[in-house]
Amino acid sequence: MDASHAPRRGLIYCFANQKGGVGKTTTAVNLAAYLAAAGRRVLLVDADSQANATSSLGIDKNREEDSLYDVLLGDATAAEAIIPLDRPAFDGCLHLLPSSVELAGAEVELAAAAQGEREYTLKRALENVRGQYDYVLIDCPPSLGLLTLNALSAADAVIIALQCEYLALEGLMQLHNTITLVLKGLNRSLRIEGIVMTMYDSRTNLSAQVVQEVRSHFPKESFNTLVPRSVRLSEAPSYGLTILEYDPNSRGAVAYKALAEEVIARSEQKVEV
Ligand code: ATP
Ligand code: MG
Repeated sequence: MDASHAPRRGLIYCFANQKGGVGKTTTAVNLAAYLAAAGRRVLLVDADSQANATSSLGIDKNREEDSLYDVLLGDATAAEAIIPLDRPAFDGCLHLLPSSVELAGAEVELAAAAQGEREYTLKRALENVRGQYDYVLIDCPPSLGLLTLNALSAADAVIIALQCEYLALEGLMQLHNTITLVLKGLNRSLRIEGIVMTMYDSRTNLSAQVVQEVRSHFPKESFNTLVPRSVRLSEAPSYGLTILEYDPNSRGAVAYKALAEEVIARSEQKVEV
């Protein structure tokens, strides 16, 4: 399919897992980079007050300009806060709706709004811009607070990043139940787009066991791509670069390129059915 002529569907995927440090941000940022490099228009939304996705792309989380915080409070539109990332690797296809340190306060301020309204603030804010993108990726904080609920309410689907470690499956079952429970009333059409296993270490039996277990319980959801544990992936953010820019030949880069291809194949296949 020729992406330049395809209508933009603005598919919204959120990266949620209440467990911290499992690779949500690394996956959101690098998947966004490879989707953009494949010519898809991508908006990365940083919905975490840690602002790791924002910093990973070399944008200062202390900058004065509008961020998602101002958008959620109704002081700016999404279009006003979005930053196009003018870098050769992305050919103009990657935009960021940045976080800022202030976003920590948004949970409290959103909570003051009426119940039934406050969970849909992000969804409403994205309505006017999503049609300009093929994919909108929302990076969530490691909690089930109002920001994550807003992301889950806005999303068409969740992509779950799962670290290949002891008890990963137990955490996944818990998350699965939580998503089902929490969303009964909020977003009935939400689905799990896929489970991506990260920090895979081919030298350990544990990693292989986790992969085997997750694949046997979630055969349809598990992506084939395994993201290896790679120092290059953890170094890139400190230079404000994606792995595509920092070391495109590294094993982590190869994995995220393959993951982007899988995501494109899954989502574009669904359209044709
Ligand atoms: P949080 O819950 O705090 O938002 P997270 O789920 O977004 O965390 P990341 O920030 O992506 O997780 O990753 C946690 C740490 O592990 C980071 O320092 C990151 O650079 C590193 N990391 C992520 N993926 C890999 C990998 N495949 N190999 C090596 N290091 C990795
Ligand atoms: Mg994160």
